[in-house]
Amino acid sequence: MKYDVVVVGAGLAGSTAARILAERAKKVVVVEKHRHSAGHCHDYRDENGITVHTYGPHIFHTNNKRVWDFVNKFSEFHYYQHRVLSYAGGKLIPFPINRDTLAEVFGIQLATYEVEDFLEKEVNKSKFNTPSRNFRDVVVSQVGERLYELFFKNYTMKQWERDPEELAPEVASRIPVRTNRDDRYFADRYQGIPKYGYTKLVESILDHPNISILLGTDYFEIKDLFKPDLTVYTGQLDRFFDYKYGELEYRSLKLELKTIDKEYYQPVAVVNYPNDYDWTRITEYKYFLNEKSDKTTVCFEYPLAKGEPYYIVMTQENMEKRDKYMKEVEKLEKSGEYLFVGRLAEYKYYNMDQVIEASMRKLQNYSDNI
Ligand code: UDP
Repeated sequence: MKYDVVVVGAGLAGSTAARILAERAKKVVVVEKHRHSAGHCHDYRDENGITVHTYGPHIFHTNNKRVWDFVNKFSEFHYYQHRVLSYAGGKLIPFPINRDTLAEVFGIQLATYEVEDFLEKEVNKSKFNTPSRNFRDVVVSQVGERLYELFFKNYTMKQWERDPEELAPEVASRIPVRTNRDDRYFADRYQGIPKYGYTKLVESILDHPNISILLGTDYFEIKDLFKPDLTVYTGQLDRFFDYKYGELEYRSLKLELKTIDKEYYQPVAVVNYPNDYDWTRITEYKYFLNEKSDKTTVCFEYPLAKGEPYYIVMTQENMEKRDKYMKEVEKLEKSGEYLFVGRLAEYKYYNMDQVIEASMRKLQNYSDNI
């Protein structure tokens, strides 16, 4: 059968693109290397009835109403506001930094209007470059060296296995600093977890008569079989170009699941471990959908240099390589035959909503240009 479009990858980028094109009456085939759809937001219910995120915790949050409306067409969402505690100095402390964090760390009670002055004094005692040129500069310029060292420095070294001064400022801008008592990890207008899981959400996005899916299939082994008008590629950027400018780094994780014979293991879904142990964080999955069980499933995350690619690594060297690949991408996209979307294909530290937004935007531009 002749397909109009080949979509490489059945994650959020690929499934969003496939759906939009299918609704425009294109015949689409989605080719996915894994034996399951949903990419890295894949999840499943384990033997205790707890929904486990196969590739680590995923919390949906967005300020983009179009994206929120899109995902809500395919799944109900469970109301969930993500809260994280950081294990530092032997205590579980609210994170990201807010008024209550300062109370715990410094043993002082500040009014909201006093927090800014307090942080300014911490910052004034510290050394950093302005404008901020790296991860460390951004954090220290906001909270000072003491809080940076307690919550950020070692976590970042563990997660990325490099000095925080080698990482781009954008990595730090993922984490807010608050002067009030809002201890939520995200402040976005819309937040939640798909009620029946991410896998079901993605399966429902892909459930359209114009979409066929080939799971467990490596695109590079079969690509010559298709002669599509358009290929939407969501895999690794460097792989597509046969690594002609060298390999880009993608970081991975070892995710160790444990079932614990008690109702709850920790007080919130995620506890970060900046300074102790080899893992970066522990996720207790039952919190996400408020699932009830006498047992609980927890996941220890250990950063890895090699393996399934989860994260891009925002160092200067990688970003320069990325620029070279992206020049090639621009040419291919101009031809109208290819689109590159998503965390792996655009080499961007996207959140889930940003992936969907990027997919929508690329397809909008594509239809404007043909
Ligand atoms: N980070 C940190 N301490 C923390 C949490 C995060 O230093 O307790 C830094 C770390 O470099 C991390 C980055 O902020 O990689 C982004 O954190 P986020 O929670 O967004 O990571 P993700 O959920 O993408 O793994």
